[in-house]
Formats: sequence, structure tokens, C-alpha cells
Amino acid sequence: MKAARLLALLFITVAWMAGTGCSLVWPSYSNSPLPSQNPSLQGHRVSYVAVAKRENRVVGVLEVDTSQVHDLAPWGRHAADLCADWYPRIATQLGVAEVSSNRVITLYFHRRDGVANTDPKTGLISFSQAYVHGHTNDWGLVIHELVHTLQSYGTNETGYHGWLSEGIADYFRLALFEPDAPLPRLNPDTASHTNSYRTTATFLRWLVKTRDPDLIRKLNLAIRDGQYSPATIQTITGRTWDELWAEFMSAWRAKQVRF
Ligand SMILES: [Zn+2]
Repeated sequence: MKAARLLALLFITVAWMAGTGCSLVWPSYSNSPLPSQNPSLQGHRVSYVAVAKRENRVVGVLEVDTSQVHDLAPWGRHAADLCADWYPRIATQLGVAEVSSNRVITLYFHRRDGVANTDPKTGLISFSQAYVHGHTNDWGLVIHELVHTLQSYGTNETGYHGWLSEGIADYFRLALFEPDAPLPRLNPDTASHTNSYRTTATFLRWLVKTRDPDLIRKLNLAIRDGQYSPATIQTITGRTWDELWAEFMSAWRAKQVRF
């Protein structure tokens, strides 16, 4: 009798779900039938999709492909939700909110070595499973790569300034996403503003605070439009990079750099 009752209950439940358009969601996300919308992942299936919105308008779709590394599906879901939350904010601060709408960003997990890399043209962020498995709390990496999808500096060699674009990507990570993390160690005798990543990001953070709150947007648009040259910083602040770096190092030595 008990088994018959259970069967009847199951039948009624399934019938009700079918009637209401409800569908069962199995815990194995890798079996999801959703096809990837990313042109470089044709034929791939995605395990999760999140939507980025600005004022209730969809501005981006974040899809996750963990078909090569199934156990990272929950990590990928969280990363996609994080990106959906931050994508509109970063786009606005970079001054590209209007031109960066309606894009697909794909978080793809593979078995190759390395950390992560981003192709801004296709919106493909590739994460190394080995790195993610060893750094499961490194959500700042996701923010860093997400910034790269919005910089879109293209392939124009003269328009690419690696140290600055990496510095801007880490600026969002350090100044906005992890603002309370300890400052990186800088050696004033050897460090340079072109050291990229955390060094450049901390310098930019100090410039935003002390010189121009709109600095990141201005620099990003100059690079994006192919207008950037080392003189750009002089136009914005009235000082050269070297002069500003010397002032930053002087404040750093005096332990006056605080955020
Ligand atoms: Zn980077």
C-alpha cells in the first residue's frame, strides 16, 4: 500500500508540474542542454546562465561552460552571478556602458596550465581548473578578467598598453572589490609605475583619490579610442607619469598612502 501511495503521489506531482510548465532541475548542471551563445564555443553546452541588468534592462548574459571540469560547476555559478552583479558597474566606471550592452560573456574552464586569460573580442574568459582548484577564494581574479572583457582595446598594437590595462583591471579588484585587503608590498627603490597589476593599480588608486576621481574612465576611453599617449596623463593631471610616481613614492615612504 505504501509503495502504491508513493507512486500515486509522484504521478500527481509530475502531472501538476507538467501542467504548470514547471521542469525538474537535476543537480548535475553539466547535463544542461543549453547551447553556448559564444561564437568560439560552437557546439558547447553551458551549465549555467546569469543575466546582468541595469535598471531592469538586460545588458549582458553570463554563461558558464564546465563541461571539461564538471566539479567546478558550483564555482562557475557563483562566478557568473558575481559577474552579472559587477558587469554594469564596471562598464559605467570605464565609460563604456552604452557600447557594451547585449553581450555574451562566457566563463570557460579548461584543463590547461596557467591562471586565466580573456579574449575581449569574443567575451571568452578561460580559467585553468588547476588554478581554481588551488585558489577557490580568488573571486578577485574573476573581477580582474571581467574588466578585460570591457576594455576591448582590440588588436591595434599602438593602442595596447599592457601595464596600464593590467593596472586598470587590478584597480577594480583592489579599490572596489577588495577595498579592505592589505596594501601590496612595494619597494620604493625598485618599483615602477609600469610594473602592472597590483603596483600600477595601487598607484592608480592613489591618483583617483588625490588627483582625479574620473581618472580611470578618462584613461580607458583614451586607450580605447586609440588616442592614448604618455602625454595623456599630463593633459588629465598636469603632471607626467614620472612626476606623479615620484610624488606617490614620496607619500609611500612617509606612510601617507591610505585609502
Ligand atoms: Zn589581466
